Amino acid sequence: MTRFFGRHHIAIPGPSILPDRVIQAINRSAPDIYDPELAEMVHGVIKDLKTVAGTDGHAAIYICNGHGVWEGSLTNLLDKGDKVLVLATGIFAPGWGGFAKALGIETETLDFGRRSSVDTDILIERLSQDKKHEFKAILVVQVDTSTSVRNDIEAISKAIQATGHPALLAVDCIASLGCEKFYMDEWNVDVMITGSQKGLMTPPGLGFIYFNERARNVGKKAELKTPYWDWERRVNPEEFYQLFCGTAPTHHLFALREALDMIVHEEGLEQTWQRHSKLAQAIWSAFDIWNSEGQIEMNIKDRKYRSHSVSTIKMKPPNGKLLRKWTKENTGLTLGIGLGMGTEEDPDSTGFFRIGHMGHLNPNMTLGLLGSIEVGFEHLAISRGKGAVESAAKVIADM
Ligand SMILES: *Cc1c(COP(=O)(O)O)cnc(C)c1O
Repeated sequence: MTRFFGRHHIAIPGPSILPDRVIQAINRSAPDIYDPELAEMVHGVIKDLKTVAGTDGHAAIYICNGHGVWEGSLTNLLDKGDKVLVLATGIFAPGWGGFAKALGIETETLDFGRRSSVDTDILIERLSQDKKHEFKAILVVQVDTSTSVRNDIEAISKAIQATGHPALLAVDCIASLGCEKFYMDEWNVDVMITGSQKGLMTPPGLGFIYFNERARNVGKKAELKTPYWDWERRVNPEEFYQLFCGTAPTHHLFALREALDMIVHEEGLEQTWQRHSKLAQAIWSAFDIWNSEGQIEMNIKDRKYRSHSVSTIKMKPPNGKLLRKWTKENTGLTLGIGLGMGTEEDPDSTGFFRIGHMGHLNPNMTLGLLGSIEVGFEHLAISRGKGAVESAAKVIADM
């Protein structure tokens, strides 16, 4: 039997599934970049980008991926020799911190391991010791895409405020914006970075740096600033081209316009968050059953700290790798690799796999991916509880 007809489901945690409408929006000839129509559309895109982040602050658009805005956020804020505190809950905040180090910024890391969220008591203790206020910024991710932990950004922000420490709070929402609740202004987040290719359902290639007035003022003294990354012109342009420091990424913008229409103007942001939350709960409930024999464990135990956009699952090595290969070749489902989860007995993380459930996903797709995983487990003879997909169906039935 051939199994290669029908639509392939890419369930890696970014790039995520592109809605047909987004693909169609790209399928057009180049516009005149001097046409006021384009400027008007971009104006609306920026407005909606701010809505998705819950901010009246600034949003700068860059032609880059997530790593680009890691660098851009740092060069706009800091000088060589400045110090930042990195809150590690997986590989991504340390990745950002690594960029800081390479730029000559001093870094210190509080490491919360690979299975828990940031412990605010430890953060408060460390900040209270920093009497001279040496930390200029605190770098944290909302969702770490390797461990699938979701940090409570509101609680982290409140903890920082409780200490009276003036460090800027900078949050990486690359794997979570548009999927998880996020209120930049209400939560006193000073800088937020994200990218186009995960919750925002747009091809990889756009990066966004959001910042408030406090960050803008601190950034005025940043000696690491370079002409391309400088956020000032991008949010305060005299000419349209300065928004992008050159030619606008026209087709990415058409794609993003369509995606934002879907999120902000059609489904509604709150409903988008709710859908992600419900579909994540359906997935968790399947894993609760599957794991009744202790072979298929969700990496994050506490539901409160599980991401709604990505799930990391731990099995005996190399079962994660075998499952991925089997579903890809036999059911048309591509699951994500284990990333940064290596241990002594599993150096390449082959026991792990991840499910990307961010962006353009509905109950049918979710049940399909769980069904494919069930078939994969069956084929690989992995012992597990029965009735997992039915359990997910029950969660979805009262969505
Ligand atoms: C994907 C991701 C990145 C890196 O983004 P790229 O576009 O691959 O450079 C950074 N941080 C988080 C949390 C991510 O999920």
